[in-house]
Amino acid sequence: MKIAKRVDRLGTETAFAVSAKAAAFAARGNKVYPFHLGDLNLKTPANVLEAGIKAMRDGHTNYCPNAGVPRLREILADDIGTSRAVQYSMENVAIQPGGKPTISKFFLTMMNPGDEVLYPNPGYPIYESQIEFHGGKAVPYGYIEGKDKFDIDTDMLADRITPRTKLLVLNDLQNPTGAECSSKELETIAELVLKHDLYVLCDEAYFDIRYGGQSKSLVSLPGMRERCVILYTFSKKFAMTGWRLGATVGPKEIIDVIIKLNVNEESCSNHFVQYAAIEGLTGDQTEAKQILTTLKERRDTTVDILNTIEGVHCLRPNATFYLWPNVTGAMKKTGLADYDDFRKTVLQETGVSFCTRLHFGRPLEGEDNFYIRLAYSGIEPAEIKEGLGKFKEFIES
Ligand code: PLP
Repeated sequence: MKIAKRVDRLGTETAFAVSAKAAAFAARGNKVYPFHLGDLNLKTPANVLEAGIKAMRDGHTNYCPNAGVPRLREILADDIGTSRAVQYSMENVAIQPGGKPTISKFFLTMMNPGDEVLYPNPGYPIYESQIEFHGGKAVPYGYIEGKDKFDIDTDMLADRITPRTKLLVLNDLQNPTGAECSSKELETIAELVLKHDLYVLCDEAYFDIRYGGQSKSLVSLPGMRERCVILYTFSKKFAMTGWRLGATVGPKEIIDVIIKLNVNEESCSNHFVQYAAIEGLTGDQTEAKQILTTLKERRDTTVDILNTIEGVHCLRPNATFYLWPNVTGAMKKTGLADYDDFRKTVLQETGVSFCTRLHFGRPLEGEDNFYIRLAYSGIEPAEIKEGLGKFKEFIES
């Protein structure tokens, strides 16, 4: 096989590999407590499902415009504009087959080979993969554990900007840490963006997965609307991960190129699914709200138990469905100093399956605390209690 050279630079999402290992362990007759993957075991709201089925029956099974169904684009422009206090029209919206495609399309549109791109680390591994795959230089910035939340290390971010830095990836309401920027952090980032003439990919996949208060967006700050491209997804809010629908939202000049990429890559996103999405945004919200109530219950159950375990400290983020507990003490106690040893031994001994720091980018110099990621979106409270009970026993014995 003569596979193209560029493929050497393509990364992956290793949470899927952890998932496969856990499935293999379960297939051998073992009980698994799945905290590894950010998928939901909750049903798509019935009204959304019915709207999708009706759209299929109504014959929306052919191609639709490359940019998406106009009515959905209009509704999204209004919804996203209102919640971020900016003005968007349908020309600012390109529908996508999921949230993820916005990442590669943003880099294809905005990044030249050799450009430096700042990205969060720990962070969603696809940024690093796509930056490097398309010939950019991925430059990581980190997070600092605070009293109530993880903060972006804005000093590190500022220090790493060079004349070659062109782009910034910001995943506010972050996977994996659950971090949420304070107003001050957003202001600092906006200042850096303006000062260094940067463009920003705002990955807002979890903007609507929050359990109180109001999400903020960098795009709301002065001068940011023209520099930010928002990654939007229906996956999480409406438990639609397998339906594959999302959108890219940003300045028209950028969206026009992204629509051209749609033409080249998939012609259009799945047609009838877009009618389900319209129902999601405009129809009855009872079940969508119930998804949040269910997730919040799971968050509290998980955090409460984790914080009773010797050597584990876990913050309680108000958004996302991820936890990033500090397990430095627990790992020390077990004598397992290596992330992979710890993860594999815990799976073997307790059935609890999770990702670690290693699944979210290459660790940065000077990191001396150890973290794992627990996703509570795919596991019931009774299982959370049983699994973490075993985890606690394993650590403490
Ligand atoms: N961005 C972040 C931060 C995510 O965690 C995910 C999915 O887990 C995505 C983007 C991709 O979302 P989608 O499943 O809609 O493609």
